[in-house]
Amino acid sequence: MKIVVLSTNPKLYSTRRLIEAGKARGHQMQILNHRRCYMNITSMRPSIHYKGEAVEGVDAIIPRIGASVSFYGAAVVRQFEMMGVYSVAESVAITRSRDKLRSLQLLSRKGIGLPVTGFANSPDDTDDLLNFVGGAPVVIKLLEGTQGVGVVLGETRQAAESVIEAFRGLGANFMVQEFIKEAGGADLRCFVVGDKVVAAMKRSGKEGEFRSNLHRGGSATLVKITPEERSTAVRSAKIMGLNVAGVDLLRSNHGPVVMEVNSSPGLEGIEGATGKDVASLIIQFIEKNAKPGNTRVRGQG
Ligand code: ADP
Repeated sequence: MKIVVLSTNPKLYSTRRLIEAGKARGHQMQILNHRRCYMNITSMRPSIHYKGEAVEGVDAIIPRIGASVSFYGAAVVRQFEMMGVYSVAESVAITRSRDKLRSLQLLSRKGIGLPVTGFANSPDDTDDLLNFVGGAPVVIKLLEGTQGVGVVLGETRQAAESVIEAFRGLGANFMVQEFIKEAGGADLRCFVVGDKVVAAMKRSGKEGEFRSNLHRGGSATLVKITPEERSTAVRSAKIMGLNVAGVDLLRSNHGPVVMEVNSSPGLEGIEGATGKDVASLIIQFIEKNAKPGNTRVRGQG
């Protein structure tokens, strides 16, 4: 098969591993920088061009779209879908997962366990908002944040109010969440491929840090997850419409709660912590599912 990895950086571990795994399984692999893909959206004959040439004969794409190019990246994925190319992550699912609030609303509708979360627009409602998430300590999150940036712990009510005031002053959208103290500064990253969790790791924040992001100095170890955690992760990926997803869970007193479902989960941390060849499992998933005409183009809406 001809499989394209959409990535802005060929040197990234995840990009390199996908190319390597695809080649090892006998596929023709190519990296295209989605920022450099341009599109002809003329009626009935959608096409994509790259550095002066039409992109043709592609069987499947693996989008690795960074948060900063979500809009353009999703448009490129949509264009491939319109051309009948199978995408591991559909454009609608990518867009959906990039909006933290929308994602939580979709998950809550299906009964997935979530931290109690509040969202409000007017400063007049801050007081009650803090009440219904159970009062301080609370976690305040910028909706646009990634890698733990813009995730703040308001330890006292006063501190929480000051942060909320500051975010409001900047015109930023944010949500307020119950602080899951019992998680002990650790979360679970469940890597879902198809309808299975193929690898799971526990990420722990560095000393004194409640955020467990690896980019913030956290460390990752192999973890055995419970059947409940497993089914929560698989169901969450499914609700988001993602075939490949990184589902982040916290172990709370009221069972596993989902923080986020990531549509371009990194491979370095998870392969390093678990020793699993996750890249190859993604390629095998494509082999099973990417047949001509197998693109579900719900993404056209
Ligand atoms: P990002 O998408 O920027 O990584 P997250 O929502 O995943 O933001 O939060 C970053 C980290 O902060 C999480 O990995 C987790 O360790 C911690 N965290 C986030 N929300 C909560 C919460 N409600 N209670 C306890 N810890 C939290």
